Amino acid sequence: MTLAASLQFIRELPKVELHLHLETSLRLRRLAERGRRASGPHDDSPGPSDVTEPQRIADPARFTGYDRLRRLRYLSRAGRIADEWYTPENIEQITLELLEEAALQRVRYVEVRVGGRRGFALLGADRMLGAMARARARAESRLGISSGFLVTIVRERGPEEAEQRVREAIACRDCGVVGVDLAGDEQNYPPALFARPLGLAREAGLGITVHAGEFAGPASVWTAVYHLGAQRIGHGIRAADDSELLTRLRERGVTLELCPTSNLHLGLCASMGALPLRRLLDAGVSVTVNSDDPMLLGTDLSRELHAVATTFSLGAAEVTRLVTNAARAAFAPVPALP
Ligand SMILES: [Zn+2]
Repeated sequence: MTLAASLQFIRELPKVELHLHLETSLRLRRLAERGRRASGPHDDSPGPSDVTEPQRIADPARFTGYDRLRRLRYLSRAGRIADEWYTPENIEQITLELLEEAALQRVRYVEVRVGGRRGFALLGADRMLGAMARARARAESRLGISSGFLVTIVRERGPEEAEQRVREAIACRDCGVVGVDLAGDEQNYPPALFARPLGLAREAGLGITVHAGEFAGPASVWTAVYHLGAQRIGHGIRAADDSELLTRLRERGVTLELCPTSNLHLGLCASMGALPLRRLLDAGVSVTVNSDDPMLLGTDLSRELHAVATTFSLGAAEVTRLVTNAARAAFAPVPALP
């Protein structure tokens, strides 16, 4: 039996992360807290104390499936943070903090997703992405961490907003945008709605990743790959229910971005051991492990890799393979991993 890779080995391993959302990182709340402390006790502007504990909102007895995710994310992100907090300086700061934390974990390359409607609406895409680009440049020169940005399209906001986001993403490629991510309610919004915007992104040379096979079954993954041209699938765990699909994913080199703790918290699998990781690996599918919403979930990339290593008895070579899969599937060139 293989000895599972140790947490220390994983911490020291140079890593790549492909699935990480900026706006659920809670860092805007942290900034707001700092601002309130600095401005003293008489400041009565809306602040983080108004935000209910996200765990209570996500109570599984009250919400299930995607509704649960929506509740959790709404309250954890900037739901009640005042509009004034959306400044280019603050966006630059939260992006920089995210990249600093990644660098501390020896992440060499990370793709950060951004799709928060308020940020884009209040600042405009160019100022929002421009602020993130400044953080990207600072992190690269100071800490040696490379990064790319994915603009997230949320299904329930409809195809028009999707197209607008894609056009903005294409226009902001100089800011470090390397791809687009389709997210949101995969059960109630058919992929055909988004074929045109994602086609535009593909033609412009942006990478395509689609959240699928998370709340819906294998059919959602089939359409993401064959109708939307996804090169990567966010989560995709339900693909394991369909052996023909696994063969196609392997043949086409489609990569799955697994986020184990996220799936566990949302009740998509009963335990870490119930994740179909072994089945996916045995089928030869390109699998990666990611943290999704690390602050919200109380995790990070090293802990995610360690959790799957211990649960599935993955040795150092297999864990390293998960990381090299991520490097190969990145939408921009990744610096050589030693
Ligand atoms: Zn996600």
